[in-house]
Amino acid sequence: MAGDGRVVMTEGLCKEYLEGAASVRALREVSLSVARGEMVAIMGPSGSGKTTLLNLLGCVDSPTRGRYWLDGEDTSRMGDRALSRVRNERIGFVFQTFNLLPRLTALKNVKLPMVYSGKRGSRQAPRQALERVGLAERMHHRPSQLSGGEQQRVAIARALVMQPSILLADEPTGNLDSRSGEEIMLIFQRLNREGATMLLVTHDPRVAQHATRIVEMRDGRVIADRPVTDRLDAEQLLAAMPAPEPEDDAAEAEVP
Ligand code: ADP
Ligand code: MG
Repeated sequence: MAGDGRVVMTEGLCKEYLEGAASVRALREVSLSVARGEMVAIMGPSGSGKTTLLNLLGCVDSPTRGRYWLDGEDTSRMGDRALSRVRNERIGFVFQTFNLLPRLTALKNVKLPMVYSGKRGSRQAPRQALERVGLAERMHHRPSQLSGGEQQRVAIARALVMQPSILLADEPTGNLDSRSGEEIMLIFQRLNREGATMLLVTHDPRVAQHATRIVEMRDGRVIADRPVTDRLDAEQLLAAMPAPEPEDDAAEAEVP
């Protein structure tokens, strides 16, 4: 199976959560494959299993039944140590709430996965990752000194620093205003054009329309899976948006 161009392949993936005496079937027989270079949006109402699916694909959680191959390797046969290596080295995760460590600078946040891995990667990798998201000049700022959109760009740099096989993002624009959200989609589209494979969860059809493919979920199942024929281009959309609000320090400068 390795080398056939599929980064992700699942077969009959099921996840049940026990809630007291009852069980919740969060995922029911999801069989999905994602080829290298695809940008897949996962849509569906709240509770349809999107986060559960993303967590299984990110090896953050394990399925009740079914199998999952990442880069052709069967993750259900991996032990805890192998799985944590996979999470650290082959999966880049981006969250709705950024999840940066507040006491660390942007650069140190981006370095963290390298620290955890214990492998000596390229010393330039964190800085290069920040350059890719356009934040090199803010690398010594802490999260509280950055806007929401900038914090999410740091989180994307952190997800990229280990050069993962796949980028997973759960509602990455959910906490952002529309312009900052579009800037995040611009970064994702650029990364995707450079060859990155990614899956992003969103409930926003306009965000999904930036992807190359849309998978729709209901009640733990995939109910539709289609290519995007009229893909939105973040660069064009941003060019057509009104200019951003002036920065605080600029506004203060005008006060006599
Ligand atoms: P979505 O991300 O589409 O909103 P989720 O994957 O978070 O959906 O949830 C799918 C279903 O599984 C929901 O019914 C949710 O309540 C349930 N669920 C999710 N996580 C847990 C958990 N840790 N324990 C119990 N039930 C859960
Ligand atoms: Mg969710």
